[in-house]
Amino acid sequence: LEHDLVLEGRVVTPRGFEDLEVGVDDGKIVEMKHQGLKGARRIRTGRGLTFPGFIDVHVHLREPGWEYKEDFRSGSEAAVHGGVTTVADMPNNRTPATNPTLLMEKRRLADEKALVDVRLYGGVQAGRLADLKEMAPLVAGYKLYLARSTGGAIFPETELRAFFREASQTGLPASLHCEDQTIIERMEAVLSGQRRADLYCDIRPPQAEVSSVRKVIEALRGFGGMRANICHVSTAETLAEVRRARESGLLVECEAALHHIFFNRKAALEDGLLRTNPPLRPESDRRALLEGLKSGLVSFLVTDHAPHTEEEKRSQGLAGVPGLDDYAHIVSWLIREQGVSPDVIARVASSSPAKFLGLDDRGEVAVGKRADLTVVDIHTPVKASRDQVRSKCGWSPYEGMVFPGGARWTIGEGTVLLDDGDLVT
Ligand SMILES: [Zn+2]
Repeated sequence: LEHDLVLEGRVVTPRGFEDLEVGVDDGKIVEMKHQGLKGARRIRTGRGLTFPGFIDVHVHLREPGWEYKEDFRSGSEAAVHGGVTTVADMPNNRTPATNPTLLMEKRRLADEKALVDVRLYGGVQAGRLADLKEMAPLVAGYKLYLARSTGGAIFPETELRAFFREASQTGLPASLHCEDQTIIERMEAVLSGQRRADLYCDIRPPQAEVSSVRKVIEALRGFGGMRANICHVSTAETLAEVRRARESGLLVECEAALHHIFFNRKAALEDGLLRTNPPLRPESDRRALLEGLKSGLVSFLVTDHAPHTEEEKRSQGLAGVPGLDDYAHIVSWLIREQGVSPDVIARVASSSPAKFLGLDDRGEVAVGKRADLTVVDIHTPVKASRDQVRSKCGWSPYEGMVFPGGARWTIGEGTVLLDDGDLVT
């Protein structure tokens, strides 16, 4: 019996490492053995580590409306380059995806153009809670913005309980961008007239995030089955709130974004391109995120891939940085230089995201699962550079930095999308 594809090498499983042959047929993992599998194609992964395909629950692929920044094709090429086989796309398009018509349009475009599996979030508008049930069949979850960011209207804190009541009926989770708009506006007034490179970090201070997170957690009480995900946590205090909420029995998840775990606010002084919402934080917060990743407090490692062109970043000061191209670079850095073990990576980059999105066909290298596989070589240093970037925005926050390695093979549903480092198109 010959399989379509056999991968041979070191596999990251829930039990640690195993040297295995993974047999793939018709997009699924059908057999795993120590040796003896035959395949029409055999990939020897050498010093690479085979992970379940990475799943990024927070991206902005910008289509439709802002295709000059990114589209489903270019964004998914960046994902493949970074070892990401499933993404969940946020609804803050030029016209926010807050109803079934717009979501169906996104579905059609993604199905036509994307190289990886794209899941969608439905945007939630104030006073439109009746839309939740209508959107449910089209989305993996809901997204709420509690502060002003790129596109999308602010969802009022006063409607959070009503939202959770309605959303809990659908069984779908919600992701929340938590910053307190009142605090941001107060800080804008207090700091107006000041000019310094890291001013933005103070206009959107840690307290704005923590205050918003507390309100979300309060509003969640009483809706036991509702799963809420705090997006891009940037401060140690938020992590403490998440821990307390979980201890009290609430289903609260949280994300760490690549840039918050890699940079501290000193980097914002040196590079104006690093403006994000929420902004970069002091080193103590960065370390807390790293510890949270290791301890299980952080549920998901995400990019919050938010491409803008370099020109509009510089001229308009737009917030958001790309990240998909660099996902596996950061993974290699976490493993080699920050003491994060590969099984932690498999959890935050694949198995937990799969559960959150309701995708029980993936998230683990196991027989019967979808053949989404990412081979990361952590022993061949690579320099992040713009000529490697596949995102249409054409730049990387990590430009010129050398990482211990990157994605070598990316396999989506049995199809080799990245082959020994080269994108297959
Ligand atoms: Zn985002």
